[in-house]
Amino acid sequence: MDCKKVAELLPAYIDQELGVGELMGIDEHLQNCPDCRREHAAQRDLGAQIKARASYFTAPPHLEARLRASLPKSNAAAPRRWTMQWRAPWLHTGIAMACALVAAWSLGLYVMQPSAQERLAEEIVSDHVRSLQVDHLSDVASTDQHTVKPWFNGKLDFAPPVVDLATQGFPLVGGRLDYLDGHAVAALVYHVRQHPINLYVWPASSHDVASTQTRNGYHLMHWTAQGMNFWAISDCAASDVERFAQGLRVAVNEPT
Ligand SMILES: [Zn+2]
Repeated sequence: MDCKKVAELLPAYIDQELGVGELMGIDEHLQNCPDCRREHAAQRDLGAQIKARASYFTAPPHLEARLRASLPKSNAAAPRRWTMQWRAPWLHTGIAMACALVAAWSLGLYVMQPSAQERLAEEIVSDHVRSLQVDHLSDVASTDQHTVKPWFNGKLDFAPPVVDLATQGFPLVGGRLDYLDGHAVAALVYHVRQHPINLYVWPASSHDVASTQTRNGYHLMHWTAQGMNFWAISDCAASDVERFAQGLRVAVNEPT
C-alpha cells in the first residue's frame, strides 16, 4: 500500500470502518512510513480535540414541536392499509387453496399409512421368520398341553388356552414367550407335516372378524374367540392353516 492510498483511507481507518485486509495493509505501512505515521497521529488528535472541546447546542422546544407537527398525524393509517391488503380477494383464494392442498396431502399420507392390522401382520411374519432363523421355536418343548399350559403361569398376566390337535394332524410341540404389538404374548408351536405353525395368543380388546392373508409366502389367519386374539402363521398350505384354525376353534369351544 502506498502513501497516496493510505492518505485516502486514513479517516476511515481512524473511525474503524475498514475491512481486515485494508486495516492490516495500513498497519504495516504506518510501521514503516514516518510521514504517514505523523499524518495519522495528527488526524487522530484532531478528532479527539473536536470530541472533547466542540460546542454542543440543544434544540429549542419550539423546534421540536414544529418537527413533531410536521409528522403524519396518526399511525392508525398504517394498520388500516395492512388490513385492506389482507382482505384482498386473491389472497383469500390463495389461502383457501393452500389449506385445501395441505388437507389433501395429509389425507393422502393418512390413506397411505398401513392399518394397525397390516402392521401387526407384518410384525407376525417377522417374528415367525426370526423364531425359525435362530432356532428358537420353543422355550418349553413338550407335546403335552398339561406341561405347556402351566409353563406360562407367572410369565403372562393371562392364561392362554392350550389344546393339543394331534388327532387332527397338528401335534403341539411347545410354547414360548414372545412380544408383539407392544405386549407379551403366548406363542404356541404346532407341526403339520414337518412345517411349524406359530399360534400367537393374547387378550383381545375387540371382536374381530376372522381373516386370512398371505404375506411373503406365509399364510396367516386371524380371529378372536373367548376374549383372545389368535394369529396363526405357517409356510404350510393355506388350506392346512384354515383346517388348523377350524380345529382350534372347535377345541376351545368357539362356535364356528
Ligand atoms: Zn506513507
